[in-house]
Amino acid sequence: MQKTLNSIDPFNGEVIGNVDVCDEDSIQTLVKQAKQAQLSWAKQSIQQRVHLVQQAYKNLQPIQATLAKLISREMGKDARRATYEAGGAIHSGPWLAEDSADALRSQRTGNNEIQYRALGVVAVISPWNYPLAMANNLLVPALIAGNSVILKPSEETPLVADLLIKTLNQSLPTGVLQIAHGDGRTGEALVKANINMIAFTGSRATGQTIMANAAANLKRLIMELGGNDPMVVLASADIPRAAQFAVASSFENAGQMCTSTERIYVDERIADQFEHAVVAIAKNYRVGGWPDTDVDIGPLVNARQHKKVVRHIQDALEKGATLLLGDKSPKLPFIPPTVISKIKPGMQLEDEETFGPVVAMDRFSTIEEVIHRANDSIYGLGAVVFGKDDALLVANQLQAGMIGINQGAGGTPWVGAKQSGFGFHGGAEGHRQFAQLTVINH
Ligand code: NAD
Repeated sequence: MQKTLNSIDPFNGEVIGNVDVCDEDSIQTLVKQAKQAQLSWAKQSIQQRVHLVQQAYKNLQPIQATLAKLISREMGKDARRATYEAGGAIHSGPWLAEDSADALRSQRTGNNEIQYRALGVVAVISPWNYPLAMANNLLVPALIAGNSVILKPSEETPLVADLLIKTLNQSLPTGVLQIAHGDGRTGEALVKANINMIAFTGSRATGQTIMANAAANLKRLIMELGGNDPMVVLASADIPRAAQFAVASSFENAGQMCTSTERIYVDERIADQFEHAVVAIAKNYRVGGWPDTDVDIGPLVNARQHKKVVRHIQDALEKGATLLLGDKSPKLPFIPPTVISKIKPGMQLEDEETFGPVVAMDRFSTIEEVIHRANDSIYGLGAVVFGKDDALLVANQLQAGMIGINQGAGGTPWVGAKQSGFGFHGGAEGHRQFAQLTVINH
């Protein structure tokens, strides 16, 4: 295993900085420290933990701009969205702490006292696409429940995660919140270590490996995995509004969002009008790197992800889809705004998670047909329907954890169906996952 991990700016290939990689021995040391620190952390009152975590998040306020720039530089997020994510982390941390405490206080019903006790050491393993949000959503409730946390951030975004943890630690007891840098090998060593729970957000393939490795001693799991979200546009839909959403949701974060719209099915009676509107909106999206603040689509996170998106575009075009906007062979590091019609089952663009700025669509003629096609996926994270009263009838038949009618999917708790995982980000159900529910009769 290499001893250091470089962070590379996908816009210009520059090495921005590096961190020390955590090997198996260092993981054992971190776990030992985490176990020790957890004992006194769990003895503090829940209100004391809330107070300390809120103090810790206050420390982030003066470094919001630095966090935002690091997000842009490490994974290519355009400057506006990176600023929004950094601000969101600063504001949501203190709120999440209070919200978790509300869900985790003991309760009494009849002669049952229900306690939410700490589990011990929780590993939070996160992806690169929302490097602050995906870590915070899980580490805050885990801490408030009285656990100690080891964050294993993505190897694509080590610097922003490092700054987050160092800054929070200015107000937290030593050993309660630690970080283990490295790629999947570090993650695997952490999963196999003597910890109590793994809160994972990332791809389905990694989720499968983690589940297998956690099986030996039945570690608790949260699995927030990938998606292949459909959007259904009914004939009754407000076409300009639906087209605006289709483009925004397909291009958000350069398409690298778990609930971005991956495939769109439009009623054939309005399809010409809808496609025309989508192209007119999509061609105004500006592409560029972080020094330019007037950008809508940044570079993709790395060459591997870029290659995958290009492969999906080319596979669709070779199998008969039509390119309405974009480039058949986009050059690194960007994928320009791309609009493709006539996608079909059997194309990677339809069957798999593409994770790139591509609007991919086809037409349908009957409601039965579109429901079958929207549900014909191993994933079930989000789904969206645009229409009038008939939209609810369709939404009721879609297989997804989060469904939006005339708006995006997602809320609290954040939840996936089918192989998009199990467990939650947020909400009382989400916060309580980090605790051992214990019933005492007295
Ligand atoms: P990934 O699965 O490649 O990596 C996620 C994390 O797992 C990284 O920190 C990585 O180093 C670590 N990892 C890799 N192999 C491991 C192993 N064997 N054991 C333990 N840890 C290991 O995912 P990614 O490319 O970083 O993120 C993109 C994926 O995340 C997409 O599929 C996206 O849909 C999904 N995602 C889902 C949600 C959600 O809420 N459902 C949110 C964000 C992203």
